[in-house]
Amino acid sequence: MVIFMTSKKQFHALDSFKMASSFFVIAIHTSPLSSISADADFVLTRVAARTAVPFFLMVTGYFTVSPFLFSRPRDYSPAVMFLKKAFLLYVMSVIIYLPVNIYAGHFRGITAGKLFRIVLFDGTFYHLWYLPASILGLLIILLMSRRLPFPAIVLVSLLLYLTGLFGDSYWGLIENLPHIRIVYERFFQLFSYTRNGIFYVPIFLVMGALLSRTRLCPKMTALTGLLISSVFMIVEGLTLHAFQMQRHDSMYLALLPCMFFLFQYILSVKARPAAHLRIQSTWIYLIHPLMILLVRGIAKFTGLTSLFVDNSVIHFILVCMFSYLFAVIITYFHNNKPDPDSGKERAWIELNRENLRKNLTEIKNLLPAGCELMPAIKADAYGHGAVLIAKELNACKIKSFCVASVQEAVSLRKNGIKGEILILGYTHPEQFHLLKKYRLIQTVVDYPYAQTLNAYGEKIKVHLKIDTGMHRLGIRSEKIHEICTIFELEHLVVEGIYTHLCASDVLYDIDQNFTFSQSEMFYNVLSQLKERGYARPKTHLQASYGIFNYPELSGDYARVGIALYGVLSNRTDIRDCPTALYPILSVKARVACVKDLYQGEAAGYGLAYVADRNRKTAVLSIGYADGIPRILSKGIGQVLLNGKKAPIIGNICMDQTLIDVTHIPDTKQGDIAVILGKSGSLEISVYDIAEQAGTITNEILSRMGSRLQRIVV
Ligand SMILES: *Cc1c(COP(=O)(O)O)cnc(C)c1O
Repeated sequence: MVIFMTSKKQFHALDSFKMASSFFVIAIHTSPLSSISADADFVLTRVAARTAVPFFLMVTGYFTVSPFLFSRPRDYSPAVMFLKKAFLLYVMSVIIYLPVNIYAGHFRGITAGKLFRIVLFDGTFYHLWYLPASILGLLIILLMSRRLPFPAIVLVSLLLYLTGLFGDSYWGLIENLPHIRIVYERFFQLFSYTRNGIFYVPIFLVMGALLSRTRLCPKMTALTGLLISSVFMIVEGLTLHAFQMQRHDSMYLALLPCMFFLFQYILSVKARPAAHLRIQSTWIYLIHPLMILLVRGIAKFTGLTSLFVDNSVIHFILVCMFSYLFAVIITYFHNNKPDPDSGKERAWIELNRENLRKNLTEIKNLLPAGCELMPAIKADAYGHGAVLIAKELNACKIKSFCVASVQEAVSLRKNGIKGEILILGYTHPEQFHLLKKYRLIQTVVDYPYAQTLNAYGEKIKVHLKIDTGMHRLGIRSEKIHEICTIFELEHLVVEGIYTHLCASDVLYDIDQNFTFSQSEMFYNVLSQLKERGYARPKTHLQASYGIFNYPELSGDYARVGIALYGVLSNRTDIRDCPTALYPILSVKARVACVKDLYQGEAAGYGLAYVADRNRKTAVLSIGYADGIPRILSKGIGQVLLNGKKAPIIGNICMDQTLIDVTHIPDTKQGDIAVILGKSGSLEISVYDIAEQAGTITNEILSRMGSRLQRIVV
């Protein structure tokens, strides 16, 4: 819920300005105009460039604070992700700068108290204060958000900033007031500047968050506001400077309106996508102090100090060039990760990797040693996306899969899936060449088929299917002679033998007896083969329900399907299941359009819905072609939107679905609706949908449309 489509374009300008800001930061640390005019340099580096860090903070607020302040349910995940990332970057930077610190003797004679102050507030190098500060600032906002309403958060952040001002640019005003001065001097025993996570950061995070949710002012207003507040800030900076008021020069009064308008102005600028700038600017920020050292080192070594260092403009340009180059090289190897929000434009499936792994562990624990999982990833992995699921499973050391058709198997191979792939169904002789080309294993569905396969004349790996009572595919178990003959066929390599239990999901006596008779027939085939001296191939007979209900029937493999996806066929079964299973699929779709429907008006095909009073409706960009059963039309089904339930109204269309959002007035274009899955404390489970549609969960899942993007989260 962080991003709505209408604002997508605006991010790109944020990225570009982030890049510009990182060069501003280099300016602060190199004073490019100092060899031309001290005043000009002051205005550039001590006033104008002071917008850079607040800008970084506002971007953070825009993307990470807004979701937990304004979304219902609160979404903490972007904030948590930011905290993790900032922490890791800080640890890494501390390590990178450690040799420089030691060489420069920064840590000589250091006390525990000083170390605490450096690590927690000041940063271990002059630019690194930013990382602990942004972490601390975000934590403060997080804490406040548990207790305080938004206006109070703004007020507290503002007061903190004003308090910070007097330890920074306005020091001169309190310097001679002993009572106040003593308070600040206490502060300065804890940290060197008030420009830190407590006083400086919160207000900019809050402002960034605010601007993600309010109507922005027109571009010209923003620009005018920016110009006026810039003039004020320059005058303010020069005045404070002239009267030698400044203890430090990061914080100004006019900086607040300046950032307020600057950020809005940037949001109004349209730009091309440039996500790489985001990563590059971070790297420039992190490494430019090293590049300053490098440029100075080179200057000294080549004897060109007067040109490379003393000329402040050239010095600045060189540092920028080196930093940029370095950032480009690093980001080149950074393995540009795909945008986490790509694929979330229309309607999509989110797959929960952690839950898949949990299910895998739970199910493995039920299997005896020596029995391996052979996940059934037919029907696009029960709608989850076969390639994605198989890749995840490959990464978890799963080396065998089964699918329904040769096309499914080929598509897995073409996408780099490793291990054995067994085709459970019939493959037409026209496609036999694919079996060899893609190293697939074919099921022998009956005796004549064995001969057809053999007649192809090339070695084909097979598993024999034995029909023990389901009477679907397989050679009847009593036809021992035929079964043995297959072992003799010249071109078939019989690697496995299996059967399928068709009543293992039900625990009435009659079904249990049937299942035991199935297994007995299967084991009888095995012993007959043994008697006749055939080497025993790999065996398997359990699917999901077999694993749970008949653990003693394990073989070399267990063909787990539905349970691996964290689901059983119906609600009763999952309720009675002693093993914890975690569903991994959710379905989401964007709101395409919100509109008023006046009393008496109808909506959708067949005028199936008529408004009983004035209502607000929304169109979701998902329909029955994406796998929502059309039978959920006319109020049978529901979706979750902004933490509330919204009924489906009218007839579900092929690509779109209408919902009633009268009771969710803040619904807007681009919002995300949950069709299946959780939203805060609410959930629409696959059991709900299966029941509404009068079928089993397997059908609902496996009919998920191929048009849906699948994203692993
Ligand atoms: C689909 C299938 C499975 C997996 O069944 P689940 O009940 O989903 O675990 C196993 N074996 C065969 C032959 C299948 O067709």
